[in-house]
Amino acid sequence: RTVYVNGQYVPEEDAKISVFDRGFLFADGVYEVTSVLGGKLIDFAAHATRLERSLGELQMESPVAKDELLEIHRELVRANDITDGLIYLQITRGAADRDFAFPENATPTIVLFTQSKPGLANSPAAQTGIKVISIEDQRWGRRDIKTVQLLYPSMGKMMAKAAGADDAWMVEDGHVTEGTSNNAYIVKGNTIITRHLGNEILHGITRAAVLAFAREAQMKVEERAFTIDEALQADEAFITSASSFVMPVVEIDGTGIGNGEPGSVAQRLREIYLDESLKKAV
Ligand code: PMP
Repeated sequence: RTVYVNGQYVPEEDAKISVFDRGFLFADGVYEVTSVLGGKLIDFAAHATRLERSLGELQMESPVAKDELLEIHRELVRANDITDGLIYLQITRGAADRDFAFPENATPTIVLFTQSKPGLANSPAAQTGIKVISIEDQRWGRRDIKTVQLLYPSMGKMMAKAAGADDAWMVEDGHVTEGTSNNAYIVKGNTIITRHLGNEILHGITRAAVLAFAREAQMKVEERAFTIDEALQADEAFITSASSFVMPVVEIDGTGIGNGEPGSVAQRLREIYLDESLKKAV
């Protein structure tokens, strides 16, 4: 694979960053993930805008201008011959002698790499739906910043696997926050319910797009917290993310949701999202 590191395109074996990088020492960094379908970037502008916000919240600046970011993404798609896949972009505060205080003039580290995922939009899981378990949300309080501290979500994924499920929905004060790497939804009748924005969840790019399409299609949307009990009584459940688009959830904590099959609202939103976002892909 060709990766991008601090201004250079290099084979992954030759890519190097400092052992003093604060991303490594403190998880002092942010990231974005953009999907590629048919060689084109999905929702790129929105991901770039959220990146700026994440950086700003941590008093960091992007080492690369927005239009240059697009060029780097495109060059990596080309160099790695990606038809369908994902592009990860990570920016850390850079290398500095170890100290909790932010260094005064560290140069940010920027890394981009690709993952090829042939058939990403036709994953079999979209036909069968996925199973989730509920776990306590033990992450920090600024989940609206897309930082590289992913240890608890990673542990959550392992708890899900150990339980024979695909993912975990995290619960705080009795209400679902989100999945380990996705936003969580339930459907009751013609109403789509998903947690309101705040510091407790990541403001998903796919979430924003899907809710806009749902409203355009005259579906009702309620942005509010819901409990696992309410989810168990729902007609459908699903998740959204840049890598899974819209993915039906058919089981929570071992109990089937609705008739235990992917729901029609989730399937319809998946189609609309894929169609519309492909039209705008860059
Ligand atoms: N929540 C969390 C915790 C995530 O990691 C992600 C995926 N990056 C999402 C939600 C979904 O966000 P997006 O639609 O922008 O991929």
